[in-house]
Amino acid sequence: MSLPRRVDGREQPIALHQQQSLLPLRGGFQDNFIMPPEPKYCCEHCRMVLCNPRQTECGHRFCESCITQLLGKPNPVCPADMEPLSQDKIFRDVCCHKEIMTLKVFCRSAKNGCKEQMSLQQVTDHLNMCEYFEVPCPLCKEKIMRKDMPEHLSRKCKYREATCEFCKHKIALTELQKHKETVCPAIPVACPNHCSAPSILRSELSMHQQDCPKAQVTCSFFRFGCTYKGLNQELREHESSFASEHLRLMVARSNTLEAKVEDVKNELLERYKVLPGLNSRITEVEEQYKEMRENTGRWSKNSPLCRS
Ligand SMILES: [Zn+2]
Ligand SMILES: [Zn+2]
Ligand SMILES: [Zn+2]
Ligand SMILES: [Zn+2]
Ligand SMILES: [Zn+2]
Ligand SMILES: [Zn+2]
Ligand SMILES: [Zn+2]
Repeated sequence: MSLPRRVDGREQPIALHQQQSLLPLRGGFQDNFIMPPEPKYCCEHCRMVLCNPRQTECGHRFCESCITQLLGKPNPVCPADMEPLSQDKIFRDVCCHKEIMTLKVFCRSAKNGCKEQMSLQQVTDHLNMCEYFEVPCPLCKEKIMRKDMPEHLSRKCKYREATCEFCKHKIALTELQKHKETVCPAIPVACPNHCSAPSILRSELSMHQQDCPKAQVTCSFFRFGCTYKGLNQELREHESSFASEHLRLMVARSNTLEAKVEDVKNELLERYKVLPGLNSRITEVEEQYKEMRENTGRWSKNSPLCRS
């Protein structure tokens, strides 16, 4: 992942969303003003520099959010002179607003080292390019000074892409450790049976299992009834010392099979014996049937019911 690039190759400034982010959420401007602001520019409610000033009938000024707050109370009054406040006698003070927006302030990123000064009006434009302004990292969302973002993205961000040094796959840095511990095929791992083999690549582990001397195996005469289970390295020993036992098992199996074959053969022969008997029965029944049809034909011709 990388920042959107402009055609000139420079990183796109991360813009403040709308004019809104320049404005305080509640009350007046809390910026660091170069000259102390005159009292006429200050809100009678929050005492800060007026944001979207409103003027009351009694001639006092309030931030837009401050007057909204005051009017929300029952029987609202002006805190400066206790005059009653009424919604329809409050007006935007455009002139005062314009004057306030020309007041000079220090950059909001002065604490990070920015030495710039500007009018309130220019704050947004400046912050959109101020190198000391903190913007969220597109990957980890941590706030980073704009000037430090390239280094953060290439060397510090915990979500930056890293290359697994074993399999060369690209992977998010946060996933890298897990990848190496569980799936990386190219990482050398120890044999799970603790055999003396030097480390084996994870991808070759299942192949190694087949001839690992310490792997648990069953005897290849298992299907003939040998119940031996043991280590691979001891299997050859078992095979030679149990050779006669294996032979005995095979002979026993062979005998059982032979007996079974004999049984099946006998059963078949029994069935064949019945066949000639069945054959003559069928011929007999066929003849009876033929005779019956002939009789039926004769009988129906002579029957008075069938004459039309
Ligand atoms: Zn205010
Ligand atoms: Zn007043
Ligand atoms: Zn600045
Ligand atoms: Zn980051
Ligand atoms: Zn890997
Ligand atoms: Zn092994
Ligand atoms: Zn065996």
